[in-house]
Amino acid sequence: MNTQDCIFCKIISKEIPTKIIAQNEDVLVMQDISPKAPVHYLILPKKHIVNVKQLEEQDSHYVSKMILMARKISEKLSGDGSFRLIMNNGAGAGQSVFHMHCHFLSGKKMTDF
Ligand code: AMP
Ligand code: ZN
Repeated sequence: MNTQDCIFCKIISKEIPTKIIAQNEDVLVMQDISPKAPVHYLILPKKHIVNVKQLEEQDSHYVSKMILMARKISEKLSGDGSFRLIMNNGAGAGQSVFHMHCHFLSGKKMTDF
């Protein structure tokens, strides 16, 4: 799949509307369309990278930018500010959109792994 067929690239280029939570020049945070927790955001790089398996050394800064964005949005959480980050890499791990992203989950007690 190339970037033209990628739904997240279409969201980044504003071809498809979405609820944007935050963004900077490198990453975008949006509401997940099918939330699995009271707070369920997706943090994605503005560059099309399939997943961690295909991450090139020169793009590794996107990963730290994603994590730093998670910290930033966590500052707005209520309660103790706990959150979980999940990245699915490959169909066998549950990845359904092949543009690297991190699930940001919060707002309920998460005990199972
Ligand atoms: P994954 O299964 O890890 O690839 O996660 C993909 C996530 O993208 C799922 O949680 C979907 O609910 C979410 N998703 C798919 N399409 C959209 C969309 N148009 N806007 C927001 N979230 C989406
Ligand atoms: Zn993409």
